[in-house]
Amino acid sequence: MHATDQPVVEHATPRMTRASVNPLARYMRWLHTRWPAGVVERLPDVRQDYSTRIPGVFVVGDLTGIPLLKFSADSGARVVQRIVAETKNSSQPRSQDRGDLLDLVIIGAGVSGMSAALEAKKNNLHFEILEASEPFSTIVNFPKAKPIYTYPTDMVPAGDLQFRAQVKEPLVNEIREQTRDIKPKMARAEKIVRAGDVLEVAIADQPSMRAKNVIIGIGRSGNFRKLNVPGEDQGKVFNRLHDPKEYADKNVLVVGGGDSALETSIAIAECGGRVTLSYRKPEFSRPKPDNVDKLNKLMADPMADVQVERPHSERVTTAMGDYMGSYRKAGSINLMLGSRVKEIRESDVTIIDANGASHEIPNQTVFTMIGREAPLEFFRRSGIPIRGERNAKWWLTLAAFFLLCLWVYHWKSQYIWPGNVIGVPFPKWLDPDPSRLANLGKDPKTLLGTLAISASSRSFYYTLAYTTLITVFGIRRIRRRKTPYVTKQTLSLMLIQIIPLFILPEIVLPLLGHHGFFDGGASKWIADQLFPIVTYGHGREYWRAYGFILAWPLLVQNVFSDHPMFFWLIICFLQTFVLIPLLIYRYGKGVYCGWICSCGAMAETLGDQHRHKMPHGPMWNRLNMVGQAILAFAFALLILRIAGWMHVGWA
Ligand SMILES: Cc1cc2nc3c(=O)[nH]c(=O)nc-3n(C[C@H](O)[C@H](O)[C@H](O)COP(=O)(O)OP(=O)(O)OC[C@H]3O[C@@H](n4cnc5c(N)ncnc54)[C@H](O)[C@@H]3O)c2cc1C
Repeated sequence: MHATDQPVVEHATPRMTRASVNPLARYMRWLHTRWPAGVVERLPDVRQDYSTRIPGVFVVGDLTGIPLLKFSADSGARVVQRIVAETKNSSQPRSQDRGDLLDLVIIGAGVSGMSAALEAKKNNLHFEILEASEPFSTIVNFPKAKPIYTYPTDMVPAGDLQFRAQVKEPLVNEIREQTRDIKPKMARAEKIVRAGDVLEVAIADQPSMRAKNVIIGIGRSGNFRKLNVPGEDQGKVFNRLHDPKEYADKNVLVVGGGDSALETSIAIAECGGRVTLSYRKPEFSRPKPDNVDKLNKLMADPMADVQVERPHSERVTTAMGDYMGSYRKAGSINLMLGSRVKEIRESDVTIIDANGASHEIPNQTVFTMIGREAPLEFFRRSGIPIRGERNAKWWLTLAAFFLLCLWVYHWKSQYIWPGNVIGVPFPKWLDPDPSRLANLGKDPKTLLGTLAISASSRSFYYTLAYTTLITVFGIRRIRRRKTPYVTKQTLSLMLIQIIPLFILPEIVLPLLGHHGFFDGGASKWIADQLFPIVTYGHGREYWRAYGFILAWPLLVQNVFSDHPMFFWLIICFLQTFVLIPLLIYRYGKGVYCGWICSCGAMAETLGDQHRHKMPHGPMWNRLNMVGQAILAFAFALLILRIAGWMHVGWA
């Protein structure tokens, strides 16, 4: 028997998307309203030294963000070295002297946990290592004969666990051999509770353990259950879904009846995959009702308007729906309730249906989305925050920080209203004192004299602070990332911020002015057009030179002036409508923000370590369009401004 008796929704042709016909939709698409739509993988909040909010609790391995063997082993050994160093320096009695209290409990006998255990044994720590399924279970479950990539090739992980094998089976033998003296206790840790200076590890169906330190190395896979059927160890069997469009036009078996299984089926079917969804029970009870509704809708109409903006499952890392654009195709879902998988072969699978009949179904890929507890639950139960999960305190801190930024900005811009509104006036001592500064350098022709005048303005300090932030965090980024691309990009941003966006307007141009460079001839005429004479500061508006880099409408003052400043209008026009589009055409959309602009510089340097906080997904991509609304508003203001110049009364 080859087909099932269940109704299968037919495969239809891809539809014409709005984006292919409507220029506005094409523009939106070019602006990335659709991709990336993946959700950021959530991980526990771990510091750079692997410590967590709970003193004595460390997280190592994949859950620190780099899913590679060498990094996992390295992190496990390093944390133990730190614990050993701290134990030596501590005046507290060794745990042998404190009854059942251990120096260390290691949760998870994977790569990171075993590396930690080797280091703990070498240093005679009093420790236990717990394992829920089998030691090195993630690696044991790699597909048969999988090639092993030991990146970075020149890295030698800390500790004694090393990797030389290049194929799965020799790798398993190699790491088992290196850890043969470590005997994990087969037990599933449920949570960690801190009681005074002792950590208690609660264990399923067993008494809990007490320790001074706990290392969590439970990996990303969680306690996923196996089907225990022949062929399950083939390379086409997965337990996470990242990119559904890879399965367009393929026969995919999804096993399970929870949100993971349903969301996987929906995502693949929406990209044109032919899904068989096999669940052992006669009806769904675990998934969210809206996922069941969506599945039903999609089974009735393969092009139904079904959106999943934020998957409930932590094993599905992509949003799905209409925004998929040309990747949205009609697939099919063949739901087999009360069925079980009997065997997985290279090009088909055998499934026994609810009536006991056997079906051989063509198959290219299998997703086993069953019986797994996501590792994050462990952290939630233990009170270790998950990055990106926001609570009231997070929102309050954000609001307070935003108000502080507003306050600083209004101080530098000499506005008064925030002081009145939020009741925090600007303190007098914050203001530069021109009389004291004048003592620094009385002659404006000298560097100190010019600096003294620049420094009597509040905006000087704002620009100095901005430039310092970009320089300091830029250097840190270069040191941290160490790739030629990042080095070049960060240097470009730093140099542009330091030279044309600070030294030029605050020092070079004023010095030239004080030396009479703009007092006569062509240079005077040009300076009159670009930096009009004023009665304050350096006597000319050199700050307008920011406009050489900050294109309209980033710096509006050179365009929205009382009377048209034709030089600036020409410069702005060339920047916004000729130079930047040419650069984008040649190098791509990120060229201005990523390599030149000062806002981009702040994002790439100070923001570099906070990228994971950026919300992802279709809703946020749509919200990103606020930028287009602001651009439209700037155009409207520009038209009004030009009208004002033409009808003098409006100005
Ligand atoms: C398919 C696949 C291919 C890969 N290929 C490569 C490669 O070629 N090169 C490379 O460098 N990296 C590769 N990796 C990544 C590598 O396997 C991981 O970086 C490494 O296994 C992570 O080690 P870990 O100790 O953090 O977690 P894991 O190795 O996943 O170990 C975690 C252990 O914790 C146990 N556990 C979970 N929960 C509990 C609990 N509550 N209580 C007790 N025990 C628990 C689990 O059973 C498991 O044994 C691959 C990963 C996968 C999934």
